[in-house]
Amino acid sequence: MPGEFALIDRIRDRAGRRDDVVRGIGDDAAVLALPAGHELVVTCDTLVAGVHFPEETLPADIGYKALAVNLSDLAAMAAAPAWCTLAMTLPDSDDAWLDDFLDGFLALADEHGVSLVGGDTTAGPLTITVTAHGLVPAGQALLRSSARAGEDIWVTGTLGDAAGALAQWRQRGPASAKLRYRLDRPTPRVQAGVALRGLASAGIDVSDGLAADLGHVLAASGVGARVDLGRLPCSRTLADHFEENRRWELQLGGGDDYEICFTAPAANALAIEQAMAALDLPATVVGQLEAEPGLRLLTPEGGAWSPPATGYQHFQGGHA
Ligand SMILES: [Mg+2]
Repeated sequence: MPGEFALIDRIRDRAGRRDDVVRGIGDDAAVLALPAGHELVVTCDTLVAGVHFPEETLPADIGYKALAVNLSDLAAMAAAPAWCTLAMTLPDSDDAWLDDFLDGFLALADEHGVSLVGGDTTAGPLTITVTAHGLVPAGQALLRSSARAGEDIWVTGTLGDAAGALAQWRQRGPASAKLRYRLDRPTPRVQAGVALRGLASAGIDVSDGLAADLGHVLAASGVGARVDLGRLPCSRTLADHFEENRRWELQLGGGDDYEICFTAPAANALAIEQAMAALDLPATVVGQLEAEPGLRLLTPEGGAWSPPATGYQHFQGGHA
């Protein structure tokens, strides 16, 4: 493993730099220029090898996902990502591992115009912590607490692919490369989050499974919901690999989707459809908010359905 200073130089040489970075990597702290009329939105997520991703995950995929999960949180708040910091705890890794990790991390950072402005490195079991900073016009952040009974519940993209990949990985049987790609390379819905400003009433990213994450919105907003299982958006690949009941289980309780679940008045449905179509991103109404607390899951026949578990179980089963 290179010395800490050599490692920091290596990262600094490759990190892009926005005009609003007054001081980036190389000082005791970064200095960033905030645009007038905006609020700073900050999020932090840690990935631990063996807990949040299988140990054999490629370093470029780890780098990509470490940033992607943070950009997903900013997207759910309708914030445009701007800057990030990276704290790495690394076992005895080599330059090639770090270069591969940075390939994945910085490719996604560049795609979204995000500057890496600082961080920290220590030796130990592989753990990656990213803090991401985004900008939103004052007062326009999408919160969990502003959903209202009667509104539609929407989901971007499709649900369950990543959970399907984890299920296949656990069984050590045949695995779909398409599903595995969705687990390793989730697409943070950054443009969708920004496009939902003024259209959505509340939002959250689907990291722990739709049932758990929608549950956070319901609790914060003091409402309940009905979700129609037959309307849950599902990729063809997931449908090819899992039968309906197992699919619902993966879609509701699996997690790692990094889609946005948001709520909106029915009057905004057309504008939302047009905004998502402009981004070439499907968005689907999966249910309605109701005054009665709790989450009711209905089969296409109208019967009540209970998932075996709600909330993402990390793949070693240690966390919920
Ligand atoms: Mg989140």
